[in-house]
Amino acid sequence: MDFDFTEEQRMFRDALRDFMQREYAPIVDKRDREGPFTREEEIEINKNFQKIGIGIDPENIKAFLDPVLFGIMSEEISKVWASLLPLPGMGAIPATFVPIASDDLKSRVLPRLEKGEFVGAFAETEPEAGCDTRDIQTTAKLEGDYYIVNGTKTWISNAVTCDMAYVGVKDPETGAQTF
Ligand SMILES: Cc1cc2nc3c(=O)[nH]c(=O)nc-3n(C[C@H](O)[C@H](O)[C@H](O)COP(=O)(O)OP(=O)(O)OC[C@H]3O[C@@H](n4cnc5c(N)ncnc54)[C@H](O)[C@@H]3O)c2cc1C
Repeated sequence: MDFDFTEEQRMFRDALRDFMQREYAPIVDKRDREGPFTREEEIEINKNFQKIGIGIDPENIKAFLDPVLFGIMSEEISKVWASLLPLPGMGAIPATFVPIASDDLKSRVLPRLEKGEFVGAFAETEPEAGCDTRDIQTTAKLEGDYYIVNGTKTWISNAVTCDMAYVGVKDPETGAQTF
């Protein structure tokens, strides 16, 4: 089996490596000590990453859906500034819903995704359920047209700034899990 990167993967890695050195290496030490990003900063970072083809809009989602590109992205961003990764990483997960979303949801979400003005979150971890996600206790119960979600999540990157969260839940009757 050939484990070498393809030409496209190598070009993506090199472009991202240069970009991180140029844009973020000079500011990481100072900015990281000043506390969490504001939502405005997160959107600016999203837009910056879009310039090199990393994003959560439908055009740029391929870096998220291809596991090798996702690995390269995680490694190159984290090498310089790990705190940036939850934006194109965890933050991108709700965007994977868009191709199968209802027209109503698409019309509300797509324009903001395309402009990078959308922050997502992936909420799986709970106080009593970390690596072993079989233990999640958050439930979702269908009542009329809505699901009523009850539970506690912890360690959720982008939780306080996100527009949409992908929340791990279980059916209280069958125990089946979904998002
Ligand atoms: C900075 C940061 C950001 C995060 N962002 C998110 C987020 O956006 N969304 C989200 O859902 N979560 C997030 N998390 C949570 C992260 O996914 C959990 O911390 C992780 O899953 C580990 O869970 P835990 O801390 O409860 O450790 P535990 O699950 O208790 O694990 C502790 C140790 O036990 C080992 N272990 C656990 N179970 C087993 C097993 N069955 N067999 C062998 N070894 C085992 C683990 O490898 C680990 O070494 C974040 C965490 C951090 C630190």
